[in-house]
Amino acid sequence: MSESLNPFEVAVKQLDEAAKLAKLDKGMRDILASPNRVLTVAVPARMDNGEIKVYTGFRSQHNSARGPYKGGIRYHPQVTVDEVKALSMWMTWKCAIANIPYGGGKGGIICNPKELSENELERITRRYAYSIADIIGPLTDIPAPDVYTGGKEMAWIMDTYSALKGNYLQPDVITGKPLSIGGSLGRNEATGRGVSITVREAAKKLGIKLKGAPVAIQGFGNAGQFAAVLLAEMGMKVIAVSDSKGSIHNRDGISVDSLRSHKLKNGAVSGFQGASSIADKEVLELDCTVLVPAALENQITKSNAGKVKAKIVAEAANGPTTPDADDILFGNDILVIPDILANGGGVTVSYFEWLQNLRREYWTEAEVNSRLDSNISSAFNDVYNNHKEFNVNMRKASTLLAINRVVEAMKIRGLWP
Ligand code: GLU
Repeated sequence: MSESLNPFEVAVKQLDEAAKLAKLDKGMRDILASPNRVLTVAVPARMDNGEIKVYTGFRSQHNSARGPYKGGIRYHPQVTVDEVKALSMWMTWKCAIANIPYGGGKGGIICNPKELSENELERITRRYAYSIADIIGPLTDIPAPDVYTGGKEMAWIMDTYSALKGNYLQPDVITGKPLSIGGSLGRNEATGRGVSITVREAAKKLGIKLKGAPVAIQGFGNAGQFAAVLLAEMGMKVIAVSDSKGSIHNRDGISVDSLRSHKLKNGAVSGFQGASSIADKEVLELDCTVLVPAALENQITKSNAGKVKAKIVAEAANGPTTPDADDILFGNDILVIPDILANGGGVTVSYFEWLQNLRREYWTEAEVNSRLDSNISSAFNDVYNNHKEFNVNMRKASTLLAINRVVEAMKIRGLWP
């Protein structure tokens, strides 16, 4: 039944399961079960051929008990309001687990950036930024990159926002910016680095040796690429990689650096010399120690969860595992490091970027990376302790930790008026 749930229904189901464990009262549960505010905006833009097209954009602000709303903006043809709402709730949990002073938000535009010119992309981005400018801000809601957005879009949003608000540079309104306008060293790699830190910590707990152990990666965007680089640096053997255009496999290992150059040149992993092509769904079912889903939602489902052979699943993507699949994986003794823990490295370094911006400081990459390591390691350990104490899967353990932190802040602040 849960297989047919939309992402927001999945998020509410996860909340309800954790709320039961936390013995949360109904009023608090009801506050958390829907975002504080969801804005839908029309985004009219002039195409290069002179026509006007109207896109739809969203910004969902889930909860701000612990601090300003925080979360990315994604561009994808399949964006829906329910997806954005779910992602904003997961951001609330993610920030609470990483123990950084933010609530959760998320935005999106229904569009296919691969079919847009650079100029069209800029006009759409600036018009969207204008439309949400009244509800974002350095102390209220701080967006960031997500699927198919990056430094370029963040720069346009920052520039539009700065122009609208008195035309002085406001780098602290958005994170994931290019270095030259206040971005942070280490931000690009941060999601993948966080994933690799959680895998290292999980392996310690389970007594698994990572040196030479095989890892399969589904998705080769920002998170997937840097997870691959950093897991390979830890000695793991990357045996399979997929992206939206195809999948490749080599039992003896794939050179991640060569594959990244190949992808940069050809726009896809397919056709890479050092591997053979396999069916996309096989990547999830390979014999490997670690599986990293780094693409989109709903990839590990009731129908393939039983075929997953990895000992550890580290969710670099948001929402890749359905609730039914979670139960199957837990039953098969597979440790799932859930998205809200595994990919929290991205938003953690966003927080460091924001701190640097507020103080007009620049930190070294070594400082960023070492702070990230200690934040994510302790988040992992906090979750793992809940996992053991309550004998529940890591997702429930994570959500439980998050809810407790968020609810504590809500109770102490009280309900106004
Ligand atoms: N979009 C990323 C995420 O889902 C990063 C969010 C941020 O840095 O604010 O965690």
